Amino acid sequence: MERMLSGIAASPGFAVGEAYLLHRGEILVEERSLEPDEVEAEVRRFENALERAHGEVTDLQEKIIHSMGEEGARIFGVHLMILQDVMVVEDTIKGIRETQRNADAVFNEIMRKMMDTLSEAADEYLAQRALDIDDVRRRVLMQLAPGGRGLLRELRRPVVVVAEELTPSETAHLEPGKVLAFVTEAGGRTSHSAIMARSLGVPAVAGVSRITERIRSGSLIAVDGTSGQVAVNPDEHLIKFFEAQKAIFAELERELLKLKNLPAVTLDGREVELSANIELPEEVESALSHGARGIGLLRTEYLYLGREDLPGEEEQYADYTGIVEQVAPDSVIIRTFDLGGDKVGVVPATPMERNPFLGWRAIRVSLAHQEVFLQQLRAVLRASAHGPVKLIFPMISGLEELRQAKEVLNKAREGLRRDGLPFDEEMPVGIMMEIPAACAMTDILATEADFLSIGTNDLIQYSLAVDRGNARVAYLYQELHPAILRQVKMVIDAGHRHGRWVGMCGEMSANPLATMILIGMGLDELSMSPGLLPEIKKVIRSCTHAEAKACADEALNQDTVEGVTAVARRYTEGKLGELVTDVGEGAAEFPPVLQTIDEENNNA
Ligand code: PEP
Ligand code: MG
Repeated sequence: MERMLSGIAASPGFAVGEAYLLHRGEILVEERSLEPDEVEAEVRRFENALERAHGEVTDLQEKIIHSMGEEGARIFGVHLMILQDVMVVEDTIKGIRETQRNADAVFNEIMRKMMDTLSEAADEYLAQRALDIDDVRRRVLMQLAPGGRGLLRELRRPVVVVAEELTPSETAHLEPGKVLAFVTEAGGRTSHSAIMARSLGVPAVAGVSRITERIRSGSLIAVDGTSGQVAVNPDEHLIKFFEAQKAIFAELERELLKLKNLPAVTLDGREVELSANIELPEEVESALSHGARGIGLLRTEYLYLGREDLPGEEEQYADYTGIVEQVAPDSVIIRTFDLGGDKVGVVPATPMERNPFLGWRAIRVSLAHQEVFLQQLRAVLRASAHGPVKLIFPMISGLEELRQAKEVLNKAREGLRRDGLPFDEEMPVGIMMEIPAACAMTDILATEADFLSIGTNDLIQYSLAVDRGNARVAYLYQELHPAILRQVKMVIDAGHRHGRWVGMCGEMSANPLATMILIGMGLDELSMSPGLLPEIKKVIRSCTHAEAKACADEALNQDTVEGVTAVARRYTEGKLGELVTDVGEGAAEFPPVLQTIDEENNNA
């Protein structure tokens, strides 16, 4: 019997397909052929992973000896022996060389064979050893594919990925054609995997309670990322309904795309810059084809998540330059690494913390690893010789941090001058306004920053004390909260008083209900996932700036989220024309007979 479940609409669109269940702790093993000249590097990568796994086990062993004594730690001695076992080590290296395949695949095969043989043994002791082999197998595979359960790119046919949660590294490298949709138990609209799904145009529903227990791999699942509904084992009638919605959605997108080459200008002639947020170089094409005027945010860390090391200057220079040349004459705002928070596991190692979003993240990591920071700044500066580039620092909380970051930037500039390498001496340097403390002192920061871009994803989580990835408190994550509107207004006004350009790169800029309020407040730019640009452009082209100002004034006078929402709805009504009738919700009208949302289960 079909079952309807509801969650958070994390990325719009519809999909029907086979579910692929990704359990916590499960490791997907990528299989890849190697070029002959990659083989020896792959052997070294395997040896390094073994060494790190060895270090991990030794640490663990010591810890347990301390707390439980030698006996308790005996098992780790066995694990160390497996890690050094000739059959394991040498056979894997031989396998990499002979079959020219990646270490993950070869090592996994060997370990699985050993596990199968042992589990068949009649001897209880030997059968138990299979568990140890499995433990070591997982440990080494995690070292080979840091940041998660391997990458989703080895999926062989298109599926709907269902998981408790997805890490940014897992979503960063998926092939859009292979994933029809995501459904997760955790997460919210602005968690990084949701942002990634939107960037890739993959529908997603987050916060679906216990979905991994309610579906098996291979079962049919239908996903509505526009309203946040999921149907498990849909019957024929429901499948037809979802397919029809999918067709309507595609038609709406086609209609909106007709605006692609038209300017984002209000009926009374006020132009607003509309640009795109991207995470990967491949997304530039989508940004341009959706009519973006430049890149308002390049989240550089995504280029390198899911690998063992951060790239050096040359690799970054090549990547950034490629993007800059494609986007010129429009500009690219390159953000320095925002590692930490929910983007852990790469080098420099950002450890799991109790309060990751309040911890060692973004500019804090960069300032602590100045050698890594300096390389990135040199690469960005060098890319600025190839087209308009602006640099932006994430998570600035006060003037000291901005000054320290600029000091490293000056070092980078001096180094390049010494090396005779060209760069744009006038490259603007801005800051993300995403910490309430920074917003409160916009007037001061604006004297030393060339431009400001409001990062509402973090600003909302910090202002309202709502973890952006926590489905349980997602109902409190409110873009139209009066406190958020006031802060945004304060930043725009103070920035403008100092002659600064003020943009917004948080997801709020893609909320059609917020568009008139934001442009009415005088924001210079809105930057968002490429696929969402046409809808926002449609709102801008359907109103006058005077109307938007009236909408913003009224909204700012409201005491409650409800009040602001009512004002926004009244002003925005009809602005999306015939295309979307229910602004901001876009909820599909489910046939009454199918509105059998399993209340008891949904509330579990
Ligand atoms: C933000 O916080 O709004 C933002 C754009 O940055 P990120 O989502 O990468 O934290
Ligand atoms: Mg942020």
